[in-house]
Amino acid sequence: MTPALNLDLIRKHSIPGPRYTSYPPATHFTAAQAFGDLAAAITEDNRAGAGPISLYFHLPFCESRCWFCACTTIITKRREAADDYLDALAREMSLTAAGMDTRRPVTQIHLGGGTPTFFPPDDLRRLGALITEQFPVRASDCEFSVEIDPRRLTLDHVVALREIGANRASLGVQDTHPRVQIAVHRLQPHSLNEQACAWLRANGFRSINVDLIFGLPLQTPPSFADTIDDVLGLEPDRLSVFSYAHVPWIKPAQRLFDDRGDLPNAEQKLAMFAVAHEKLTAAGYIDIGLDHFAKPADELAVALRAGTLHRNFQGYSTRGGASLYAFGLSSISSTGNSYRQNFRTLPEWRAALDAGHLPIERGLRLSEEDLRRRTIIMRLMCDRRLDFAALSQTLRVDFAERYASELASLANLAADGLVVTSPSAVEVSPSGVPLLRVVAMRFDPNATSGSRRHSLTI
Ligand code: SF4
Repeated sequence: MTPALNLDLIRKHSIPGPRYTSYPPATHFTAAQAFGDLAAAITEDNRAGAGPISLYFHLPFCESRCWFCACTTIITKRREAADDYLDALAREMSLTAAGMDTRRPVTQIHLGGGTPTFFPPDDLRRLGALITEQFPVRASDCEFSVEIDPRRLTLDHVVALREIGANRASLGVQDTHPRVQIAVHRLQPHSLNEQACAWLRANGFRSINVDLIFGLPLQTPPSFADTIDDVLGLEPDRLSVFSYAHVPWIKPAQRLFDDRGDLPNAEQKLAMFAVAHEKLTAAGYIDIGLDHFAKPADELAVALRAGTLHRNFQGYSTRGGASLYAFGLSSISSTGNSYRQNFRTLPEWRAALDAGHLPIERGLRLSEEDLRRRTIIMRLMCDRRLDFAALSQTLRVDFAERYASELASLANLAADGLVVTSPSAVEVSPSGVPLLRVVAMRFDPNATSGSRRHSLTI
């Protein structure tokens, strides 16, 4: 199914809202949640019948700052920082693993950042050895992905990543125009993207994702169309086309864009989204939802058709039911009814580990009602559909009765054809898919319309 774009309806209904990579969103995590209670969630997760394990490692270093970036990063050229970081990461892994049932299979590993390929190849090899020391990873069935900055990639990095089991890569490209690249302080000739893809494919990486951002300074709809054409030449299996989140009150480097006044306006941004959507679907990519596109044979597109898509902190995923254990500063773990986030600065994260503690800064225990709403919102985001009978069975409540006011609140979206409601289901229509977040917000009692904490849905 290729969702139709109705720009008038997007204009009318697009409001700031969470991306729902978790529910409740991370903005609701609190330091008031007792450390001991959050740490106890690790041993609680060893319950009988507990599912597989997903591992995330945050590798925060970058050589230079891209001025649009909202990630937790540390800018340095000192490569020894990677080795020091691994010493602390090893302590965090063994402290955490001590409370875990590490016989559970690891089905997913993700290296994110920052720039994982800031780490010299031998440090990546060391990280791989630390992972397999603590956890039983069977290379054959583990989806192991890594974020790649083509500017900081050598052939030896690719070889090292394959040696430790990585089989999927996500390339940060953002925009291929030199003018835009200068404006955002990220010079990246397209030849580097081509080189990275060639190395990754030649070394057996099964899937390549390309990340793009629209709404950056000096971008125009025609220039972004050129970027899409350039990356289609790379023949990626998946693309993420993110809307630039302008949050200068959180990321001061972004203030520069306001000072220069070179950000595209909302209408231009919408036109860029339209051009990306049109070109990618014309090239045969399936709109997975929100900002993800995949080739029809890609696992994400297959999972969408099969109704087995999941959503986690990295976006859409084909591996569900796993407990997420995350390591490194700012990383977020999700097990059972809890979320735990690590300290977001290097000194605090390291000090906790030096003192022999888990470096948890804040988190959340979900109530029964939170858990029900998490299921509803994740089904909407992944299936684009709420089946009342199935949800009643899963949630052990009469879904239509319990959520009658939320269902009634969909009336204006139904009147505009964004959702189709019946006595047994709610279905997001093709024109409603770009506004999935807006539909999901109707089931989120904390969704604050117009909140400055979130970016616009498009
Ligand atoms: S390389 Fe990636 S993580 Fe680092 S500053 Fe640029 S966008 Fe952010």
